[in-house]
Amino acid sequence: MVNHCKRLIVVVPAYNESQIIKKSVTKLSEVLKHLIDQQLVSKESKLLFVNDGSEDDTWDQLISFHKENSLVTAINFSRNFGHQNAIIGGLTEAYDYGDIFITIDADLQDDPWAIVEMVKSYYEGFDVVYGVRESRTTDTLFKRSTAGLFYTLMSKLGVKMVPEAADFRLTSKRVVKQLLSYSERNLFLRGIVPDIGFPSTNVYYSRKERELGETKYPLRKMIGLAWDGITSFSMAPMRFVLFLGIFSLTVSFIMLVYTLGQHIWGDTVRGWSSLMLSIWFIGGSQLIGLAIFGEYLGKVFNNTKQRPRFIVQDNLLKEGQDNA
Ligand code: UDP
Ligand code: MG
Repeated sequence: MVNHCKRLIVVVPAYNESQIIKKSVTKLSEVLKHLIDQQLVSKESKLLFVNDGSEDDTWDQLISFHKENSLVTAINFSRNFGHQNAIIGGLTEAYDYGDIFITIDADLQDDPWAIVEMVKSYYEGFDVVYGVRESRTTDTLFKRSTAGLFYTLMSKLGVKMVPEAADFRLTSKRVVKQLLSYSERNLFLRGIVPDIGFPSTNVYYSRKERELGETKYPLRKMIGLAWDGITSFSMAPMRFVLFLGIFSLTVSFIMLVYTLGQHIWGDTVRGWSSLMLSIWFIGGSQLIGLAIFGEYLGKVFNNTKQRPRFIVQDNLLKEGQDNA
């Protein structure tokens, strides 16, 4: 069962994490050392930190950890590209160096020791191992309920997702290879990874509170991610517009009959209200329709541009290999 030749690369996105990065390096190093000692992974396994354009001293700290700890390596983005792109960037750069890949946030909210179980599941033959939050009592009620709502909505829209699984997961090399061939922008990994297939399983852990620093996912970014998730996987909003159109046409037909009736037998001045109603109603639904079409058109526009999803400015991983 045990194959100690497999190289594990733990990809850790970090954006303005200067307060917790040291602790993060220590904890994750402990776990990786344990795995190496147990001969579950090879000695060349690494922690690959992805500095996603932090404005604080996260990168400087990472350079010094890299010097003193042979398990630590890092890449530095030229600016902030966002969490999902940081993960993709890390996996892209790590691809040639590893056999097993795990992504985990730098803030230690996910239990680093669950990594051991993930690696064991990998040797049992699973290509994808999702870290699933058994309890998330530490998250605010607001975050929990909006997340619950989002998972329900996504499954109603027919998007395969593992509930309560975020971006803490193990992927085998062949899954990462497939993942990297998904060249779309506005990545939503939680939807894409299940879409790839291959045998998968879950590892359960309880999500902790963020000890230091603050969330980099304010409401604005949460909504952005959810919206990307919905519009990159489903045409349902567009179909909804179609039904809205059919509905408003039906209503306006009824209004037509009603207004004509009023015109012939009633008081025409009273027709003002129905006129106003239909103008507002049709105008409103057209605007919604336009907005949703615009969203898809925007996605097409972004994808045709084929801009890079991330830009690496410094790469300690490659440097390390060149020097060796
Ligand atoms: N992160 C990133 N780029 C960003 C925002 C966040 O690399 O633009 C990293 C962040 O450093 C952390 C992870 O993504 O390691 C998850 O962010 P956070 O913990 O703030 O999100 P939350 O757990 O509150 O959803
Ligand atoms: Mg967090």
